[in-house]
Amino acid sequence: MNFRILSAIVFSLLLLPGFPELEADVRGCTCDLAKPETMASRECSLCAEVEKSPADLPVVMVKDINPRKPNRWLILPRKHYSAGHPLAAMPLEDRTALWTAAIEKGKSLWGNDWGAAMNGDVSRTQCHGHVHVGKMLEDIEYSGGVTVDSPAQIPVPPDGTGIWIHPLGNRLHVHTGENITETVLMR
Ligand SMILES: [Zn+2]
Ligand SMILES: [Zn+2]
Ligand SMILES: [Zn+2]
Repeated sequence: MNFRILSAIVFSLLLLPGFPELEADVRGCTCDLAKPETMASRECSLCAEVEKSPADLPVVMVKDINPRKPNRWLILPRKHYSAGHPLAAMPLEDRTALWTAAIEKGKSLWGNDWGAAMNGDVSRTQCHGHVHVGKMLEDIEYSGGVTVDSPAQIPVPPDGTGIWIHPLGNRLHVHTGENITETVLMR
């Protein structure tokens, strides 16, 4: 069994109800910035995090505070979208800004070995949309995916599934259709 499949299984187990530390499926989150008591849940902590930055910034970058993921960064839209922040809810301009920032951060950290991943809507532990940025694990590439020239061309994944992106020469290789995608990145 390869490492990635094993990671995906472990990640799935962590999402089961027996693990109160992590919540899955945040699509029903009803947090509202105007009502601070609704923002106190752990799954809303990234919503609170972006509020610390000026409102006119397009994106916010934070180091992943999970001690088990010391090499990861999170790139967040500064705006809040509807519950669960599905990528499909973001206008093209906002998605482009998000991916552009994620790619720049990835390059600055890992050169050509960067990767960016967003889990599917049902596999998020935080209700605020977030792109994981890190170093691609080796030997992850497999068939499928589409190649695009720029962040503006990165498609919205079908059916709320996840997406992961890595460089392919001077272009971008985009994989969609899986829910748990952050496991392609070094922790
Ligand atoms: Zn929330
Ligand atoms: Zn939010
Ligand atoms: Zn690929």
